[in-house]
Amino acid sequence: MSKLVSKWNYPTTVRFGAGRISELPDALAATGIKKPLFVTDPGLAKLPVVASTLKILDEAKVPYAVFSDVKPNPIESNLTAGIAAFKKGKHDGVIAFGGGSALDLGKLIAFQAGQTRPVWDFEDIGDWWTRANTDAIAPIVAVPTTAGTGSEVGRAGVITHEESHTKKVIFHPKMLPGIVIADPALSVGMPAFITAGTGMDALAHCLEAYCAPGYHPMADGIAVEGVRLVFENLPKAYANGKDLTARAHMMSAAAMGATAFQKGLGAIHSLSHPIGALYDTHHGMTNAVFMPYVLAFNRDAIEGKIERLAAYCGIKGGFDGFAKAIIKLRKELKVPHTLDGLIKGLDMDKKRKALIADMAIVDPTAGGNPVKLTKKAALSLLENSLSGT
Ligand code: NAD
Repeated sequence: MSKLVSKWNYPTTVRFGAGRISELPDALAATGIKKPLFVTDPGLAKLPVVASTLKILDEAKVPYAVFSDVKPNPIESNLTAGIAAFKKGKHDGVIAFGGGSALDLGKLIAFQAGQTRPVWDFEDIGDWWTRANTDAIAPIVAVPTTAGTGSEVGRAGVITHEESHTKKVIFHPKMLPGIVIADPALSVGMPAFITAGTGMDALAHCLEAYCAPGYHPMADGIAVEGVRLVFENLPKAYANGKDLTARAHMMSAAAMGATAFQKGLGAIHSLSHPIGALYDTHHGMTNAVFMPYVLAFNRDAIEGKIERLAAYCGIKGGFDGFAKAIIKLRKELKVPHTLDGLIKGLDMDKKRKALIADMAIVDPTAGGNPVKLTKKAALSLLENSLSGT
């Protein structure tokens, strides 16, 4: 009997290409949405990308309301306010427009508005999602404006549980947007710091998915091409935000990372989640800080795989060459080498370090790390990311 047993899911319809935001009214009609709630974040709400998108809706006479009370790393009160706006406006679907924060919150509003159980009952643990009232989930059209999280092609939303300072992943297969409009022209205004952080997030997704154990050759294939696209295009998009070709390849790499990570993630994310929840850092930038330390830690388990990946990406020098290429890319993107470069005035005592390590080893992504993430290992990775060694 073969041991090659697995479960594969592939994403949804993606209308990809610059200018395709003009198809938003058509995408709404195709998903049966007549009165959408447009969910975005307050920063984006002030920018021309939102104004020009709302103009498309106005011209098509789509009745909509805007909800923008979404903080980066969204919290429960954002969700509660979004659900209230959804119900008050009698909306029948959501346009989730923005980076991972707005996409996740938009998806969570569409999911949770019709549920009676608290959102925390649907955490991505086992099959808790089967408790949900599936018929009450509203349709979603997703429009990414960053290129990193890939939330637009995912079936989950991340939300911070404030009392426990933990980022929780809420999962339901029907949280997958019915249609995605991936229009790279919407991402040209991203500031360099966000371009770097979100791009490194896409890289972390591809890399960790590829290294995760488990049989998923399709995810592996998607992940390696995603890694190649990031190495080739992230420096270009960072240096010149108006490079539409580089922006387009990065938008693809983001969707590819999230498609691939159904296979699993690993210790980069297990450590990044508690840091994000405790210090409110940018998710992708935090992943980028941890990346080389986790790569070195996993070396024995992944050396052969990384050699193949390096060869595919045209990076010389096998594992060491790949590790150097990551460091070079981080430098080029001005990613801090240590955590205190990311969190100003950071002063972690022993108790805080132990708390982070405890949170990391129970994070749902820890199981995907190719080497078991013990508390000792998590503490040592944390020390490395503080000392830069
Ligand atoms: P973000 O959505 O928090 O946005 C960061 C900043 O970029 C915001 O200030 C926003 O206004 C700005 N911005 C976005 N698009 C812009 C544009 N085109 N021009 C100018 N400014 C723009 O950042 P993110 O990295 O995309 O998302 C991070 C969130 O996604 C975190 O909460 C993280 O936990 C979550 N996440 C979710 C998944 C998933 O699978 N659902 C995966 C990874 C991360």
